[in-house]
Amino acid sequence: PSGAGGFDLKAHIRSVPDFPKPGILFYDISTLLRNGPAWRGAMDRLAEVIRPYEPTLLAGIESRGFLMAAPLALELGLGFIMLRKPRKLPGATIGYDYDLEYGQDRIEMQADALRPGERVVLLDDLLATGGTMAAAIQLLKRAGAEVPVAATLIELRFLNGRARIDVPVETLAAYD
Ligand code: AMP
Repeated sequence: PSGAGGFDLKAHIRSVPDFPKPGILFYDISTLLRNGPAWRGAMDRLAEVIRPYEPTLLAGIESRGFLMAAPLALELGLGFIMLRKPRKLPGATIGYDYDLEYGQDRIEMQADALRPGERVVLLDDLLATGGTMAAAIQLLKRAGAEVPVAATLIELRFLNGRARIDVPVETLAAYD
């Protein structure tokens, strides 16, 4: 089935069994990135989806979220910020710690990244359990941002990540 915009995003996404560990089906966007027109089509579609939320800034989650945030920022005429793994960003940072299935992780941003009243749209490649996105939203809100929407290319619907996310979520392709 072809999505809105007349192109079939799923046709350009490859799934790789047992990566990075046994039992995980990994959705690989490398095949999309390699195809100029398909990549353009996906970014155009995502731009259309987020434009009505009137962002003033975009935020990408390391690392595949950067691949969405950068072209979308150019397309929408906005800047973007990087939400990164610990100790990657120079200068003063603020962070948010969150639980993984086993252990803990942390996401950081630069403390001076936002101006008051900023409407920040959050981007990543894939929504799985929603833990990463929920943490990123908490961090942005703690820094004073409004987050009108979070968006990804892919959603693993059976994991019900949306239930953990308290802002609207837009995704272009869902897998059951
Ligand atoms: P989660 O916090 O569980 O929603 O996981 C989302 C993050 O992990 C995203 O940054 C994804 O890039 C990555 N991820 C989780 N599961 C997969 C998967 N099955 N295929 C590809 N990437 C995944």
